Amino acid sequence: MVVVMAPDAAQSDIDAVVSRVRGAGGEAFVSRGVSRTIIGLVGDVDGFGALNLDGLPGVSNVVRISSPYKLVSRQHHPDMTTVYVGTKRPVPIGPDTFTLIAGPCAVESPEQTLESAQLAQSAGASLLRGGAYKPRTSPYAFQGLGEKGLEILAEVGAEVGLPIVTEVVDVGDVELVASYADMLQVGTRNMANFALLQAVGATGKPVMLKRGMTATIEEWLMAAEYIAQRGNLDIVLCERGIRTYETATRNTLDISAVPVAHGLSHLPVIIDPSHSAGRRDLVLPLSRAGIAVGADGIIVDVHPRPDEALCDGPQALSGTDLRALAAAVRQLPPLLGRRLVNDSVPA
Ligand code: PEP
Ligand code: MN
Repeated sequence: MVVVMAPDAAQSDIDAVVSRVRGAGGEAFVSRGVSRTIIGLVGDVDGFGALNLDGLPGVSNVVRISSPYKLVSRQHHPDMTTVYVGTKRPVPIGPDTFTLIAGPCAVESPEQTLESAQLAQSAGASLLRGGAYKPRTSPYAFQGLGEKGLEILAEVGAEVGLPIVTEVVDVGDVELVASYADMLQVGTRNMANFALLQAVGATGKPVMLKRGMTATIEEWLMAAEYIAQRGNLDIVLCERGIRTYETATRNTLDISAVPVAHGLSHLPVIIDPSHSAGRRDLVLPLSRAGIAVGADGIIVDVHPRPDEALCDGPQALSGTDLRALAAAVRQLPPLLGRRLVNDSVPA
């Protein structure tokens, strides 16, 4: 159950709802949005009916939501959300636009990061990705440059004029990563790390939440709910492939997850064709498929010299590949009524 407060509700009105719910043995989570505050109720939902919450001052309406996630559900919020990333010229990710995010899988050095960022920027990307903390399957693989990597990414992002998105893998690093990043990424291996989800939620920074490679769509949305419960609804869902019996690709991009998640949740959904396939030759066809099913953006790996990449080289696009991808994918979103976020770059 969710209590939607009126835009002009006072703090005392919010407190009154919370204390009435707690007094009845329930728990209330307050989420402050830009225009209104909503309060998610957990506990004996049938019992809450007797509290007459909709009669309290400042309450706009009370919505009963049957799904196990509330704040991120479309039942609670029928209009689709647009998430804005960055402060100077915020980059939208949402239903009216199409956003290209590109950058190196990992920040390796200042030179490699700048070269990758220039490739991303000149191809028309609006956001720069790059990992400083890499959650590698093997403990012997390159683990990322840590804070040095964050510094490099932030400097390069400022130099090319792109907000940055980077992964955080440990609760203890959340504050540090948030001090550099415009958007925090939670990767597939941490989708169900609930303490991490709560911590990124508490930063108030936009979050890109990748789908766990063995998670159902419902589990993914419940993970998003952990972030939302901390008052942060600036969440972008990222479908990055799930584990199946197929071995031709690293993971199987679950293309149906895009319209399914859009039907269940108001949050934007993007796809990561690089990490799902693990193969550069599939990035373009999967991107086209993602756009066709309504993805709000794509995130792809680029590297100036993919053969030398310290992480995920086989899927990294070269500059030439990225330009070809960008030119090809730019044609499709406008056919589906979407504006390209960065349409200043000629196809
Ligand atoms: C990444 O984007 O760098 C990454 C590690 O992705 P995933 O969590 O999807 O494997
Ligand atoms: Mn990678």
